[in-house]
Amino acid sequence: MRDKPFAITLDVGSSLANKTGSWRVERPVYVDLLPPCNNACPAGENVQGWLYDAEDGSYERAWRTLMEDNPFPAVMGRVCYHPCQTVCNRGQVDEVVGINSVERFLGDHAIAQGWSVPISAEQTGKHVLVVGAGPSGLSAAYHLRRLGHDVTVRDAGEAAGGMMRYGIPKYRLPRAVLDAEIARIVAMGVRIELNHPVSDVEALLVGGDFDAVFLAVGAQIGKHADIPAGEAARILDAVGVLHDLEGGQPPLLGRQVAVYGGGNTAIDVARTAKRLGAEQAVIVYRRTRDRMPANDSEVEEALEEGVLMRWLSTVKYADAGRLVVERMELDESGFPVPTGEVDELAADSLVLALGQETDLTLLDGVPGLVVQDGVVEVDETQMTGRRGLFAGGNMVPAERTVTVAIGHGKKAARNIDAWLRATTYAPADKHPLADYARLNTWYYADAPHAVRPRLEAARRTTTFDEVVHGLDEASALYEARRCLSCGNCFECDNCFGVCPDNAVLKLGPGNRYEIDLEFCKGCGICVEECPSGSILMVSETGQP
Ligand SMILES: Cc1cc2nc3c(=O)[nH]c(=O)nc-3n(C[C@H](O)[C@H](O)[C@H](O)COP(=O)(O)OP(=O)(O)OC[C@H]3O[C@@H](n4cnc5c(N)ncnc54)[C@H](O)[C@@H]3O)c2cc1C
Ligand code: SF4
Ligand code: SF4
Repeated sequence: MRDKPFAITLDVGSSLANKTGSWRVERPVYVDLLPPCNNACPAGENVQGWLYDAEDGSYERAWRTLMEDNPFPAVMGRVCYHPCQTVCNRGQVDEVVGINSVERFLGDHAIAQGWSVPISAEQTGKHVLVVGAGPSGLSAAYHLRRLGHDVTVRDAGEAAGGMMRYGIPKYRLPRAVLDAEIARIVAMGVRIELNHPVSDVEALLVGGDFDAVFLAVGAQIGKHADIPAGEAARILDAVGVLHDLEGGQPPLLGRQVAVYGGGNTAIDVARTAKRLGAEQAVIVYRRTRDRMPANDSEVEEALEEGVLMRWLSTVKYADAGRLVVERMELDESGFPVPTGEVDELAADSLVLALGQETDLTLLDGVPGLVVQDGVVEVDETQMTGRRGLFAGGNMVPAERTVTVAIGHGKKAARNIDAWLRATTYAPADKHPLADYARLNTWYYADAPHAVRPRLEAARRTTTFDEVVHGLDEASALYEARRCLSCGNCFECDNCFGVCPDNAVLKLGPGNRYEIDLEFCKGCGICVEECPSGSILMVSETGQP
């Protein structure tokens, strides 16, 4: 352990004889840097900010900070793949902060408390149509409403939520949680018109009822593969299976189910098949596990539930009750190539989980659109080539996750708002990144990550009960306090304590500190001792 240069020897004001004069060449400045978690969150959440609020039990303030960016914390806390945690600096100290589990705690707490979102913006009288009530459309609607616009959301389905309802199974996202977060958006005055497919966007745009349109119709059509098959083969597509189940019509999959694909949808269908009573659910995937796009924790959970995996395999032929599967091997570049060796696999049904495509027929006749690889191009404001028509989520080129879709909705809302006001939206400049090298981590004691409890494996395959449980309040508080507050002062008083010249002035709770340059000699001890890296030395000319 290094020696800390603590030098607290003088009482405040006792160094008045030590006025600096003009010989200091550098001086410290307090800065706010961009924590890597904030930078990585696709919804643009101020993660460090709401963790800081949550740390002392100010849950409502934390939740409201979070809701500035994302209206679905309880959903996020269950389904987001948390890229924020992948880059969390604490991972280099011991284990990353469980950001996602604290987010879930706040989301669930807000639902239990019945907290709502007031609209303080002046009403603009502008009316925006949102097509699609999935995460992207609902996020756009929420932010547009907060900005004072009237919003109508039209969706083809019987219930709102998009793939959050008709894709992600209940054992990962209980519907009461989803319903509560959607109901809060409706309570803000957003109108959702269900069973209302939109088939002609151009007619709506020129019709004059709406001042702008945001499209977020997702990717609903399961991709097909040309698999030779006997007449009695039972081949279904994964999104159809999950959709029918949610609609109350559990599909007939049989006792032996094979799922073809390696993404999260394949895992969800296989785990669902087990819960519907299949004795065997096997995933057939042409590559190896390390190449599987599915989330690792979901693969683990599927294996725990008895889902089987056939790596390096492709389906050559499907017939009633059986599949012919060809073994693959990896060539020198790691690409799977056929071996010509085949096996038989018992399967009453084959479910294809090979990805989804967007149905763009509602855009027929819209001038100026650019469609590439089946998705609609948008500019940096989320506007398509047709003026006044914005788009986001799975129907535009981007990673296909709930959080990315929510981020698009927010970004589109801010740009639609600017467009309706005939201005441009200019996001604030990003602060420099608070990377690990800037932190002084010896101040932080080791504190292992709080683990979320899970439903025991035996009960998982017989029910659709939620598998991963939330943290209790004590564990959520503990987890929030593990945050290192990267690049942002958290008023620990270290600088105040270590300054040999008493040049650090305390401005009171919430107001941080100020350097009294009359007394600062520019020794830089405060910079050395700031745990969160929130003080930088700059030359007297102002350059770092
Ligand atoms: C099985 C499965 C599991 C997944 N799991 C996760 C996960 O755990 N975490 C994660 O981050 N992502 C997950 N995803 C991906 C995620 O669900 C999507 O990226 C996200 O839902 C896309 O949001 P969206 O708003 O663009 O579209 P969608 O969620 O697809 O919503 C589009 C909405 O538009 C409506 N619509 C379509 N056409 C029309 C029309 N013509 N008129 C009116 N309405 C229309 C649809 O009814 C739908 O409600 C999963 C996807 C699937 C399929
Ligand atoms: S939404 Fe996802 S990426 Fe953003 S803070 Fe939550 S868990 Fe992290
Ligand atoms: S320690 Fe805190 S501020 Fe730093 S990256 Fe992790 S969650 Fe973000």
